Amino acid sequence: MLLEARSLTKTFGAFKAVNDVSLRINKGDIIGLIGPNGAGKSTFFNCLTGDLVPSSGQVFLNGQDVTHLGPEQRAQLGLARSFQVPLSFEGMSVIENVMIGAFLRSADPAVARAKAMEVLTLTGLSAMCDAPASSLGTPGRKRLEIARALATDPDVLLLDEAMAGLTATEVQQAIALVRDIHKLGITLVIVEHIMEVIISLAEQVIVFHQGHEIARGTPQEVTQNEHVIAAYLGKRAAATAARGFAEGGA
Ligand code: ADP
Ligand code: MG
Repeated sequence: MLLEARSLTKTFGAFKAVNDVSLRINKGDIIGLIGPNGAGKSTFFNCLTGDLVPSSGQVFLNGQDVTHLGPEQRAQLGLARSFQVPLSFEGMSVIENVMIGAFLRSADPAVARAKAMEVLTLTGLSAMCDAPASSLGTPGRKRLEIARALATDPDVLLLDEAMAGLTATEVQQAIALVRDIHKLGITLVIVEHIMEVIISLAEQVIVFHQGHEIARGTPQEVTQNEHVIAAYLGKRAAATAARGFAEGGA
């Protein structure tokens, strides 16, 4: 078991943003996490990464209880994430932004630079390495966010809406990038509203609604689940997904 959440609950005042969610993630998995806005997906991620302390429940990383460890300690242990709202250091260059991730593993700037260049090549940003991060458009910022996470050499990468705001072509390129990342042996948990992304990439999908898990299964199973259609997908999106499966295109 690479990453495990046991009965995680996160309350804000009297409000339960995440309500008793458990999840077991094995090495090599690609798990999709879907649900309407406000369902608790980002809050769940924040509890996994240590950006938030859960109100109750536990998080295990490689068998170790990390519930009370901060994000940097969890990153040391192999957990990386991208933020839904990219957090670039605007005044710094693209490669300097990525070196921040690489410094987790080495204090030597030459080693960090080499690692940063390696992940910039993987993420298609190497030509922009010396440009200011502020010069990147939306697709570039999303890739920079992923590159900084990859530079920490993670075992598991959590992507929070890493493809929001991309064009259809850019989404296809981002799907290819996620496949390349998975081929490196990195386990992935993906929060995404674009169903095409979830259907193409995820082996198992968990559906959140009002802090609860309401369904779990293959993309085909959850997109045909009546509770998921009622709470999130709607009939039209479910029909589109079903057509995709019938054509074998998904
Ligand atoms: P999702 O990522 O699924 O859209 P979030 O996890 O961001 O959902 O939010 C879940 C719910 O928790 C929302 O109702 C949101 O307003 C609330 N919430 C998130 N963070 C906080 C916070 N720091 N304080 C109070 N409420 C919050
Ligand atoms: Mg969110």
